[in-house]
Amino acid sequence: MNSESVQQLISDSFIIIRNFIVDELNEDPKELLGEDYWKILVDVNEVYEKEKQECDSTLKKLDYFSDEILYALQAYRCGECGSGLLEATSDQGKAVEASFKCRSCENDLHYESIVNAAINEYYADDVYLSHKDGGDSPVIDCPFCFDGSYLFHEGVCASCGDSATHECERCGASIPPEEISEDNVCGYCAHMWAKMMAE
Ligand SMILES: [Zn+2]
Ligand SMILES: [Zn+2]
Ligand SMILES: [Zn+2]
Repeated sequence: MNSESVQQLISDSFIIIRNFIVDELNEDPKELLGEDYWKILVDVNEVYEKEKQECDSTLKKLDYFSDEILYALQAYRCGECGSGLLEATSDQGKAVEASFKCRSCENDLHYESIVNAAINEYYADDVYLSHKDGGDSPVIDCPFCFDGSYLFHEGVCASCGDSATHECERCGASIPPEEISEDNVCGYCAHMWAKMMAE
């Protein structure tokens, strides 16, 4: 663990500790921890927050297929060190062609290598709920590039940027996530078509 991941750990715990003391113990955190410890927590938290803001603003300068991808990358944690300090090292242009770096472990990262993990993490709860309660999954496998994450509600793949047709070209029905394909028809029409061809 390096100093920045420790900073992040403290920063993450900071809010939890603070809320716990205030909400559960009904105490003043400054009094309970003592002024000195409290100040260290605040300082570390502020240093991290400032670095995080700088990182976020580098990410914001790039162009994305969808803003959701920007938000997912802002929430991304480095696969090597767990830090949330992902920055763009290109300061303009398309995100898909840009290079990125983890400010904490200095790992060079490429859009391709992080975007799917970022999307999966970012949507993990929604995907889980859609499996559990039924309903449209917000992320599916891209029908065009196959290993990309296709954002169903945004109608775009985070990897290749392609968009599928969401309304069946044959019957006009809206196509649910599990039937999205590059054929532009719903599952029913695809099935009927296959049946007709077989006869
Ligand atoms: Zn890292
Ligand atoms: Zn794709
Ligand atoms: Zn149809």
